[in-house]
Amino acid sequence: MIPKNSNPRCQAQTKSGEPCRAAATSGGLCFFHANPDKAAELGRIGGRKKSRLPAEVPNPLPKLDKVSAVQDAVEKLIADVYAGRLHPRVAAGLAPLLNLQLRTVEATDLERRLEQVEKPLARAEAEDDRT
Ligand SMILES: [Zn+2]
Repeated sequence: MIPKNSNPRCQAQTKSGEPCRAAATSGGLCFFHANPDKAAELGRIGGRKKSRLPAEVPNPLPKLDKVSAVQDAVEKLIADVYAGRLHPRVAAGLAPLLNLQLRTVEATDLERRLEQVEKPLARAEAEDDRT
């Protein structure tokens, strides 16, 4: 036996005041009336597709193996967002990663510089031992 109410309609009304004709979910409302934020979100996505802002990074990122390279990349990202070449959402997604990369290369940079200081010191000490 098939229940009469197996395919209930949404209880809400459309913007024009007519009953919504979409299929209702368990709450008695259709997906969009039950999730008004979702509709706005989908609308925004649709709007973004029509805009000229590219969703992808326009240029491949350079090698970020030095503090200065990360700084250059950040500078370029800011310029790209400012000029409308890069979507702010992409930049916002990259920001914490660049931050992480900066901290990583900063640590490597420090190690490299420490090595440059320590090596001659060790050599000098070795020479001192010989005398
Ligand atoms: Zn509805």
